[in-house]
Amino acid sequence: MTEIWKPTLDEISARWQTLADRLGRERFAPLAPELDRDQRYPWETIETLVEHKFVGLFLPRQWGGEGASLVSTVAAVETLGTHCASTAAIMCAYQLGAFPILLAGTDKQKDFYLREMTQGRATSFALSERIAGSDAAAIEATAVREGDGWRLKGEKYWIGNGGASRYYVVFAKTDPALAGRGISAFMVDKEQPGAVIDELSDKMGIRGTQTSNLKVDLVVPDSARIGEVNRALRLALQTLNVGRIMVSAQSMGLAIAAFKEAAKRAVQRKTFGQPIGDNQGIGFKLADMATEISAARMMLYEAARAYDNGEDVSNLGAMAKLFTSEVAHRAADNAVQIWGGLGYCKPTIAERLYRDQRILEIYEGSSEIQRLVLSRAVRKEAEEHPA
Ligand SMILES: Cc1cc2nc3c(=O)[nH]c(=O)nc-3n(C[C@H](O)[C@H](O)[C@H](O)COP(=O)(O)OP(=O)(O)OC[C@H]3O[C@@H](n4cnc5c(N)ncnc54)[C@H](O)[C@@H]3O)c2cc1C
Repeated sequence: MTEIWKPTLDEISARWQTLADRLGRERFAPLAPELDRDQRYPWETIETLVEHKFVGLFLPRQWGGEGASLVSTVAAVETLGTHCASTAAIMCAYQLGAFPILLAGTDKQKDFYLREMTQGRATSFALSERIAGSDAAAIEATAVREGDGWRLKGEKYWIGNGGASRYYVVFAKTDPALAGRGISAFMVDKEQPGAVIDELSDKMGIRGTQTSNLKVDLVVPDSARIGEVNRALRLALQTLNVGRIMVSAQSMGLAIAAFKEAAKRAVQRKTFGQPIGDNQGIGFKLADMATEISAARMMLYEAARAYDNGEDVSNLGAMAKLFTSEVAHRAADNAVQIWGGLGYCKPTIAERLYRDQRILEIYEGSSEIQRLVLSRAVRKEAEEHPA
């Protein structure tokens, strides 16, 4: 789509983008309607992602990955997302589970879990609970010393890739009196007795992904602990700093797909003897879509570039996630409007995108939570550096 700004990619990122586009066109887009209809997790897609090294794209080479930059990863996720939102979300769930291990795991843990991931045996990120999503410090799962290890007890909710992943980074209170400063993280293998994958969520969108709960009542050795005792909330937030840029890439893929659908329909559908796109009411909508999608895309690639340069992306990542997910919302909404009655009905792509989009403003920190993060940063800056 020439109307939308395109990032100038380095050669490696462009190669990943081209491969993602080819696989997306040939394999993932044709599957998307069926995955959505049947809420089916696509194991054949995982095989393709493993075969073509996408699952370990962002992991360092020394742990079996491809050592790609975040720019390359974002380019791949965004492109997959233009073909199938579920495939892009699955790829992001892999990265989200890997991050706590990458940031705080020992070399032995990295060597084991990250290599497992490159073979398709993923790790999922299990922070949320029914009573604690936005307010992660309020989790109630506990980890209490038992012999040389820890007894983990609790129930984690809405785990991306839940059930499909082999391993789980489970966040639990090791010192409940310290609230957010008393949380630690532990690796759990779903094959362990005492780990029960419970109830799959019946979702509005991204129905090709699997989201489920995990109940644990089991003992893990201390060697299953990721990072320092009582420091894991910080680890979760550092993970989400990158995760938000990945959700931003999912958002961009979806927004571009919605724009293409809308633009296509605007030239094909005629009313009163002319294409509907010839009416300013529709043409201006498309112009606004192209403008804000371009602006959002610049923000996304700048956030990924800043991350690759070692800059702090906590605010820029929050802004990118907030803006791109809301742009994706408007793009999907406009696509439905431009498709009219058909856009409201299955099996149009516009209808599916409208539902797939909705989660982007909720998971990995809702839009309100991004605004909270940013408003706190604004206040801090104003207090520290009054004009
Ligand atoms: C498909 C899916 C996949 C997911 N994947 C994962 C995963 O892999 N791992 C994981 O740990 N979790 C996962 N989650 C959980 C997800 O991150 C949470 O649902 C999300 O953080 C919101 O938490 P909540 O649902 O408890 O909503 P709540 O925290 O109850 O919030 C409800 C509403 O209130 C708003 N709100 C809350 N606090 C404030 C405030 N202070 N100011 C203004 N507004 C506020 C929120 O923005 C939201 O609109 C997933 C969820 C879904 C649906």
